[in-house]
Order: sequence, then structure tokens, then C-alpha cells
Amino acid sequence: MFNNKELFKSAFKEQLVSRLGKDIEEATAGDIYKILGTLIREFIGREWAETNRSYMDQQEKQVYYFSMEFLIGRLLGNNLLNLGMLRTVREGLADLGWNLEEIEEQEPDAGLGNGGLGRLAACFLDSLASLGYAGHGCGIRYRFGLFEQKIIDGHQVELPDDWLQKSNVWEERRADKRVEVRFWGQVEVAEKDGKTQFNTVNYEKVWAVPYDVPVIGYGDSQVNTLRLWSAESAMDPARMGLEVQNSYYKFLEYNRSVESISEFLYPDDSGYEGKILRLKQQYFLCSAGLQSVLRTFDKLELPYSELPNKVAIHINDTHPTLVIPELMRILVDDKGLGWDEAWDITTQTVSYTNHTLLSEALEKWPVNMVRELLPRVYMIIEEINKRFCGMLLDRFPDGQDLVSKVAIVESDQVKMAHLAIVGSYSVNGVAELHTELLKTNVMKPFYDLFPDRFNNKTNGITHRRWLIHANPELSNVISETIGTWWMKRPHQLLGLETFKEDSALREKIMKIKRSNKLRLAEFIRQKQGVMVDPDSIFDVQVKRLHAYKRQLMNILHVMYLYNDIKDHPSVDRVPRTFIFAAKAAPGYYLAKSIIKLINVVANTVNKDPQVNSKLKVLFLENYSVSLAEKIIPAADVSEQISTAGKEASGTGNMKFMMNGALTIGTLDGANVEMHQMLGDDNMFLFGLTSEEVLNYYKNGEYIAKDVYQKDPRIKRVMDQLVSPGPFCCHEREFNLIYQSILEHNDEFFVLKDFDSYANTHDTIDQVYLNTPEWATKTIVNIAHAGHFSSDCTINRYAANIWDIRPVRPSLHV
Ligand SMILES: *Cc1c(COP(=O)(O)O)cnc(C)c1O
Repeated sequence: MFNNKELFKSAFKEQLVSRLGKDIEEATAGDIYKILGTLIREFIGREWAETNRSYMDQQEKQVYYFSMEFLIGRLLGNNLLNLGMLRTVREGLADLGWNLEEIEEQEPDAGLGNGGLGRLAACFLDSLASLGYAGHGCGIRYRFGLFEQKIIDGHQVELPDDWLQKSNVWEERRADKRVEVRFWGQVEVAEKDGKTQFNTVNYEKVWAVPYDVPVIGYGDSQVNTLRLWSAESAMDPARMGLEVQNSYYKFLEYNRSVESISEFLYPDDSGYEGKILRLKQQYFLCSAGLQSVLRTFDKLELPYSELPNKVAIHINDTHPTLVIPELMRILVDDKGLGWDEAWDITTQTVSYTNHTLLSEALEKWPVNMVRELLPRVYMIIEEINKRFCGMLLDRFPDGQDLVSKVAIVESDQVKMAHLAIVGSYSVNGVAELHTELLKTNVMKPFYDLFPDRFNNKTNGITHRRWLIHANPELSNVISETIGTWWMKRPHQLLGLETFKEDSALREKIMKIKRSNKLRLAEFIRQKQGVMVDPDSIFDVQVKRLHAYKRQLMNILHVMYLYNDIKDHPSVDRVPRTFIFAAKAAPGYYLAKSIIKLINVVANTVNKDPQVNSKLKVLFLENYSVSLAEKIIPAADVSEQISTAGKEASGTGNMKFMMNGALTIGTLDGANVEMHQMLGDDNMFLFGLTSEEVLNYYKNGEYIAKDVYQKDPRIKRVMDQLVSPGPFCCHEREFNLIYQSILEHNDEFFVLKDFDSYANTHDTIDQVYLNTPEWATKTIVNIAHAGHFSSDCTINRYAANIWDIRPVRPSLHV
């Protein structure tokens, strides 16, 4: 049906009538989307069941990727691409009078993540399925994803992301697979047959109901599963004796508290302190996910000692660390294993990815909170801690200092990263630099104890979504040049290097970039009524708003450019369009005022006739996966300008590179590896190195005020933040920003790196004027971007951490 246009059209029209009672003439875009999605979902149903059956029959080792976030975006286009149906469907719909891109716009983004960490999980699922691995996702079906951002009067306003308002065509509710999750209560200890038994009583029971989403691999691969859990009431109103005084209110209160568990995704950095609901969410995911994993394992009828050979559980950051004590609880309390055996099994089954070195982002939970909400799990954490510290003191009799540094429970807090390292067999960082810093700084005592556990797996992105689907014209030109093999083997993009000076290819690439820029310009015109020049340099910084990512340095530089143009109006310049998009965590006031500042600057710059033919600034609201897919193919310059040592990897950097943008960046995260491949010629590096940053932190020799006093460009823009002028505003509007730099001594070295940053932008202007040279650099970037496909990353996780191989290699060339 999906390989033959005429068959597709007739099947489609028939479905429209039988399901919606509509003819094609009456159908809306929403109807078309719904019918198309449902058709595909049903079409792959058999393959999905077949995949699951073959995994069971062959007793294949399964990987379960536990993550509190899956930033999936839309699925229609990607599923069509992976199924090889894109063309038939596009042409079939066109015959029926519909444009596929317009239909894709009907799908709400599944925004179940904050940023890079959640998007990584989504890219990994795509690669696992496409490479033929038995790997599944385990997450939460948040009723509301990350908030929708509106910019009103320059300010960020947060609205609920009601993504499930209409039915979700991809998910399958599996009520028969629900499991029970327990909170609160008290632990009773009893002796039975010479064994100590732990029984939790008076607990609150909640149903976890799975919603399964098929993860369709590219080509003839299998269909894996993303299982998202939803919390439901486990109280039967008919058996509650509601006639008793007040019990009706108790019932309502219970229901409300249950529903809140999977109600919304916590924004990053919202200050988890006291957020018991977040802890509840984490345990809910871990307990439900583990029960379902073990239920599948139990069907194999193997002893639990076989678990590490049949199951790998990976935790995406520390958020799902409770799988460790929860697995211990199940093995010891429910399955009757001894502690040591259970511990061996657990620590051979769980592996952990660290995503951050920022101390404020390392999760800690107050002991009281964990003990009350999860009494038995807390006892197990204490026991793990006791044994771990005991082991250390055996090995190092004077090791009190060491113990206080590495203890899992310390100062009335449970340190999740410590628990994750102690309870797993593999700890990986997400870029070479990040892993080195983990080993030598933040987690050094653990590295000294367990050197073999630490390893690096540099992040990646799926080239299917971020290149083939997001930039089809570029993909076609690549295939015309080197054949289509790169789609299955992204490393083959390297073949483009040979053509880096081929003038025909250079011209084609620049033409495609221009056409992508025109499309984005039209989108901007429609959204904001601002006209942007497609021949200006599109300079883009899109990512979550964080002080360490230094959107502030970018906008201060724009303010300086504005001043410079006003001072020298007749000087010729290469026109620039600076494009920003970013969400700020709702409670992160500094980040929010940086958004306001960008919007104020945009307003001033874009309205000034002396300036606006040379300089434009745009802030596009509601950054999301689908917005990223529109923006990135149109970028000339990619801003990856975090303070060195702060960005664990970055994946935005890889998406831009793959779409032929040139990077202006610091030696941070995966930029370092990009630079190793590209060299100085194909990337614009600037700023302090991570070592220099660390030295300044140590010796305190950086004084932001000195830089402010000495550099008149900097003094002027800083003063413009707080005094009347082109960018300010009612009084002291940007005080917070001003103080963060001058009073709190510029923690992220914005002023320190400013000069080097500004000079590098001048270099970019010069290089851009030489179009053939720019085109060559673009080609070199694309050629090396295959290295950052998540296919490569996943192959390394599979071989070096999970010990799994593709299931049906015969199908996958
Ligand atoms: C890739 C991506 C990110 C991560 O971007 P970084 O530049 O690595 O921080 C965040 N949000 C969305 C929507 C993305 O697609």
C-alpha cells in the first residue's frame, strides 16, 4: 500500500470515509494527519509484534534506556522516512491536493524533555532501532511537556504544553501491563525461617500504566518500544466505603496526588529542593520500569544470576539512580536473594552516563524526604552506603577524609551521583574533555577507586532526522556526489572531502543554503513581520538559556556592533542576521532578563534605519525540536560559545556542522573533537581554554572590573545596560545582568573572552566575502559530521558498555 501511490490513495480515502465519515474534499489538515498517522501505526503493528516475539524466541539481550526525558519532537516525517514511504506518501497526498509538510505541521511536538539530555535519548532510540539493536526507552508520559514559550513585550511567558489535547496517534495504552508502585508507609521487620523479612505497611498504592510508542528503525530494521508510564488511581471507589465521614474528600485528594505524578515535566534548574513530587516521579519511573523489565526476564525462566547477560539497564544522568536500590529491594525482599548476590547482579546490570560537572546540577536529596517517601528503599541506600564506607576503611584505615568525600549519604543528604557510580559497572562522560574533567576533577576520588569503570562516549545526533529529513535538498546533493551509501553508513560522508574544491559542488551547496535561508526568512516574516536579508550571514545561537552558554556575550557583542555602526555609518560591512531561540527555566531570573535584553536589542536594532540593513536581531519564540529543524539548515554560523569546561558535550554544535554551518566556538565539550577533525582552517576558535578557566578560579587573578575599565567597547555596552540610551529601558531593568558581571565578578568569563570573540567575528566577515573558500569549509564540515552520527555513538555503547550485537544483521547490510 505504501509502495504504490495509487493503492495508497485509495486506501487513504477509504479510511477517511470509514473512520471520520468524510470525503477528501471535506477533510481538514488535522483529519489528514490523524488518518495518515493511524494508518502507519497500524501498518507497522505486525512488525512490532514480530520484533518482540523474535527477541523472546532468541533470548536476545535487551537494553533499557531509562530517562526522565525523551525530547522526541514530531514522528510522522521521521517514521515515513525510516519506513521508506516518504516519497509515495508525499506524491499520493499531492495528488489529493495536500502538501506533506503542511500535514506534518499538524503534529504536536512530543516535548518530554528540557534540552540536550532529552534529545540525546531520542536520537539514541532512533539509532538503536536503525542499527538493529534490541534497545528500548523507558520514560514518563507527562501530561504536559516542557512549557510553551510566548514572548510578550519582550518577556518570556510560560504556557502549559497541552500536547495530548487531541489523541496521540503513535501511542498504545497497555492497561494489561500495568504495575503497582508504592509510596510512604512504614517498614516492619520480622524473622521468618531464620531470615529477616522487611514488610512495608500502610503504603499508598498507585498504578503505573504503560503507553507504548513504536520506535521504527531505518530500512528493514525492527520496531523497538518506547514505554512511557502514566500514573493512575488504584483506589476502587466502589470498595472504599465512601459513605464514611470525609472519605469522599480523601478519595479526591488521593486521586489528585496520583495524577500529579505524571502531570508535568520539571524544568531544568528549577531548584529541586523540597520538590518531593520530582522524587516521586523518579521512583515511579524506576519502580515501574524495573518491574516491567523483570516481568519480561521472568518469562525466560532463567536464574537471576543470568540477569546481566540478558538485560542492560542504562541510566541517563542520575535522575533514574533509584533503579539501583529498587533492583536490590526486588531481588532481596521479593525474590529472596542474599545481599551479596543481589549486589553483584545489580552492579553488573546498571550503567550510568554523567551529563554535567556543574556542582549545582549534581542531584542531592534530603535524607528525611527519601526516608519518608520510600522507607524501604532508603534502608537499602543506607546499607549500600554502610558497606561501601566500611570497605573503604578496611582498605584505607586513615581514610576518614576520603569517606566523607565519597559517601553516598552525607550531611543528611543522599548524593545520587555517588550512588550511581558505586552501584554500576560503567560510568561514562559525553565528550573526551568532559570525561577527562570527570576523572581528574569532579569525580577524581571515584576514578582513583574504580579506574576501570570510567569511559568516554562522545554524544551524537541522528543524521536521519537532522540531515536527511531536516535538509532534504542538501541530502540529495550529497547523494548525487558520493552515492546514497552514507545514509546507512554516515562515516561515508567523508567521501565529500575529495570534492571540497569542486566548484560545481560548492555552488550547489551555497545555493541550497540560500534556499533554506529564504524559507526561514519567510517563516520569520510570517511570525514577526520582520524582513531579513537572505544574503546576510545567518548567525545562530539556539539552545536553552544558561549563563554558562553565554548568550549574554553574544548579545553584548551585538550591542557593540550597533554602537560601532552608529559611530561609523559609512563603513561597508558584511550584513549579519543574529538569530536566537532559547527557553529559560521559569525560576531562573537572570536567564529571563537575558531574554528580555535580546528582545530589547532586537527591537532597537531592527527599527533603526541607519543600522538595519547591516544588522538584524531575531528572537524566535518557543525553541523546540521542530523549530530547530527549521532553523539549523539555514544557519551559516553556529554559536557554541560556552565557558570552556562547562558544556559537557553539546549536540546542537553537531547538528549545525552536519548542515554545513561553520562554528564559532570555545574549546569546550565536543567542540574539541570537532576541532581535532576540522583543524583551525575550518572552525573559528576563540577564548580561554578549560585549563586557563580552572586556573583563574584557583588563583583568583581574573578581575572583571579591570576589563571593564580598560576596554572602552565593553565599558560602553555595560553602561548601556543600566543607563538611559538605545537599550535601556525603565531604570535598572538589567541590573541583575550588570551585577552578575561586575559585582559577582563574571563567573563565566564573558568580559574576559569578549575581545577574542569580537576579533573572531571580524575574521568570519572576511572569510565570508570569499564565497568559494566559505563553501569549501562548509563541505569539509559536512564531510566530517558523519563521525557525530549517534549511530557511531550507539555502536560504541553497544560494544563497550552493553555487550550487545545487532539482532538481525542479515537484514542490515
Ligand atoms: C539539540 C537540541 C538541544 C541541545 O542543544 P545544545 O546546543 O547542545 O545545548 C536543545 N534543545 C533542542 C530542541 C534541541 O534540538
